[in-house]
Amino acid sequence: MIPAGFAYHRPRTVQAALRLLRAYGDAAKVLAGGQSLLPMMKLRLLEPAHVVDIGRIASLRKIRVRDGWLIIGALATHWMIESSPAVRRAAPVLAETAGVIGDPQVRNLGTLGGALVHGDPAADYPAVMLALDAEFALDGPDGHRTVPAREFFRGIMTTAADPGELLTEVRLPVSGTRVGGAYHKMPNPASGFALAGAAAVVGLDETGRCAHVRVGVTGVGPAAYRATGVETALVGREPTDELIADAARLATDGIVANEDPHASAEYRLHLGRVMTRRALAAAVERARGRARGGR
Ligand SMILES: Cc1cc2nc3c(=O)[nH]c(=O)nc-3n(C[C@H](O)[C@H](O)[C@H](O)COP(=O)(O)OP(=O)(O)OC[C@H]3O[C@@H](n4cnc5c(N)ncnc54)[C@H](O)[C@@H]3O)c2cc1C
Repeated sequence: MIPAGFAYHRPRTVQAALRLLRAYGDAAKVLAGGQSLLPMMKLRLLEPAHVVDIGRIASLRKIRVRDGWLIIGALATHWMIESSPAVRRAAPVLAETAGVIGDPQVRNLGTLGGALVHGDPAADYPAVMLALDAEFALDGPDGHRTVPAREFFRGIMTTAADPGELLTEVRLPVSGTRVGGAYHKMPNPASGFALAGAAAVVGLDETGRCAHVRVGVTGVGPAAYRATGVETALVGREPTDELIADAARLATDGIVANEDPHASAEYRLHLGRVMTRRALAAAVERARGRARGGR
């Protein structure tokens, strides 16, 4: 299918992009990697009169570490994140997750910012962003604001980013000593999207008990969420296999699951619990490994 006609704009700075978004309002759409927007335009689910291509704004492509934070520009592609030494050191679970998104073409073009703002309930990054306690920097007509990951994912294709706003960067605390993270998903065999996926980040204290635990679940409900019941069941306790299995059973409590031709609600709930158990077990194993290595 061929999209409806539109005016194409290619700003070189964030300020110029924001001016265009302000000028054209609801008639404008931001274009980043185009891996989600262009299919929707081709299917005529979206017909923006103005497309604002931010792909040439070099400042949005940077990945750096500063003052204990890993800072990733919204235009960093999945491949850049997967292969970045800084990401692999500071947030290895994020690099791993980028590497299981879609296929090589999608990973070469798709961006972190596009994947997050798009708000697909089956996307991989949201679970990891929640588990890593990320913050999102947004620039818009009313200035700059920062939104924590736990307030960002609101519903199907709905996030805290307003239409006139640009997501400029994502900030993540650099992984500490005795901390391990893992992401597990059951992929849709055609697209790679998560039928259900879970990310876990576990920090151990000197006695081997859980000092902190964060679990993000994607694909199950209308938006990714923190499985706080699981976290509470583990904090302060030694994460044995039995305790992890018991805690993971709480991962879908209170969640109304999505149901579509790919998976029933019941199957998604089951997968959400299984992926949580696997992610927790792997995260704990990695945290123990880092504790043994003194890092
Ligand atoms: C075949 C295929 C398989 C895929 N498999 C997976 C998968 O396994 N897991 C997964 O998580 N995803 C998957 N995806 C989605 C992929 O990750 C996309 O890259 C991502 O959803 C969109 O990123 P993008 O940069 O292409 O954004 P675009 O398509 O350019 O934009 C997406 C939306 O975000 C908005 N937007 C983009 N950037 C910004 C910004 N900085 N600020 C504000 N708004 C912005 C756009 O206006 C648009 O509404 C797949 C996609 C395809 C085509």
